[in-house]
Parts: sequence; C-alpha cells; structure tokens
Amino acid sequence: MSEPDDARRAQIAAHLQQVRERIGAACRSASRDPGEVTLIAVTKTWPASDAAHAYALGVRDLGENKDQEAAPKVAEVGPRSGLRWHFVGQLQTNKARSVATYADVVHAVDRERLARALSAGAERAGRTLEVLVQVNLEAVEHEPAPQSAQSARGGASGQQALALAAYAAGLPGLRVAGVMAVAPRQCDPRAAFDALHAVHLRLLAEHPGARIMSAGMSGDLEHAVAAGATHLRVGTALFGPRSPVLR
Ligand SMILES: *Cc1c(COP(=O)(O)O)cnc(C)c1O
Repeated sequence: MSEPDDARRAQIAAHLQQVRERIGAACRSASRDPGEVTLIAVTKTWPASDAAHAYALGVRDLGENKDQEAAPKVAEVGPRSGLRWHFVGQLQTNKARSVATYADVVHAVDRERLARALSAGAERAGRTLEVLVQVNLEAVEHEPAPQSAQSARGGASGQQALALAAYAAGLPGLRVAGVMAVAPRQCDPRAAFDALHAVHLRLLAEHPGARIMSAGMSGDLEHAVAAGATHLRVGTALFGPRSPVLR
C-alpha cells in the first residue's frame, strides 16, 4: 500500500474508533447492547479505496445514495466476505433495475411504484432484496397531538408506511426488513425517532422479519440509539466533510 493510502486508512481508523465510542456511550446510557446496533459506513462521494479501508477495518455494511456513483464503486470494491451494500437515498424508479443488481438492502422505499420496480429488478437479477419503508417524520411532527396510545404510534405517515409494507410483502423478490427515516431539520430528533420506533414496533408485529430500524446519521446518532435504532447511517463522522459541490 502506498503512503498516502496508509495515512488515509489511519485517519478512517481514528474516526471509526470515535464513532464506535459514541455508539458505545449511547448504548450504555440507553442500557442497550452495542451488538444490536449496526454501523453503516456511507461512502457516497468517497472513492472505492475508502470503502476498502472501511472493510479492512472491520466494517461490513456500506451505504451509497446515487446509482450512477454506486454501481461502478460496488464493482470496483468487488465481492468480499460478509459485505452488504445499503442503498440509502431517494431512488428514481428508472434506476431500480440497476440498484437491484448490487444492493442488499434498499432503505428509502416510499411508494408502490418503486416497490414494483425493485421487485421486477430483483426477479430479473435472480436476487432477493431487503427493503425498508420510509417513514415521513415531517408528517408525524405536524400531526395534531395524539389523543390515544393508538394514534400516538406514528400517525398517518405510519399508517401509510404499514400499508406500503403490506404491499411490498406481496411482491416477489422483496423481503420487508423494517423502517427508515431521516430526522426533519428544525425538530427534536429524539421525538422524531421515538415516533419512528412506534411505527417500527407496529410493523414488526405484522412482519416478524422486519427487524431493522434505520435512523441516525453523524449528527444525531445518539438520539437514534436512545430511540431504539438498529442501523445507523454514518458518512461525515467517518470519512470527513463532503465537498459541497458533490453534496
Ligand atoms: C448521506 C446520508 C447519510 C450520512 O450522513 P452524514 O451526516 O454524512 O453522516 C445518512 N443517510 C442518508 C439517507 C444519506 O443520504
């Protein structure tokens, strides 16, 4: 390995240790086992070599959010034992066929049409995709104060997510694996993630295999752990700030 590569790996290793310490501390505060929390290293905008460093450092879950960037990167990293690729961003229906060839988990399934396109892509590729239904926490936040425990459990956006999960569960090539959300800006992330957790529990009651609650990024992962997240999607805290040009 060349020297700049060694320096980059050392930098990612140091960041990874910091992130693992944050997760550990959040788990201790919440009396949770860190073994229940999977760290997804979001490599978007960073080269395949950074994904390879993360893998070499023990990370087994990598995330991307744009097909045109992810497809060549996944190919460059190549198959590796235990490696899982997560597609974490908004996904256009016309990219679903490509994503279905390499993603193991698709996080932001937010409409039936996308679920159908992923199902068709998975069938075509002879694969099974795990899908997470996206819960719109913006809508949860803006719903009127809940009148009962029942309506407190995620509200209308939660109902929509459950209906979408039921739809996706009936499609070949897909396995409903849980829920995902991004905390809206300008709101209390803990309250938002608590609302997501309520939807997570309802989905789990209907689909026992839907064990994933994907929430929490570099800036709010402690809140996500406190609310019960099983998967954290972390980019900046591991790889550094992304170029604003690239997002
Ligand atoms: C980029 C991205 C992340 C990672 O965000 P950071 O703040 O860099 O940790 C998480 N989730 C999604 C959906 C993303 O697009």
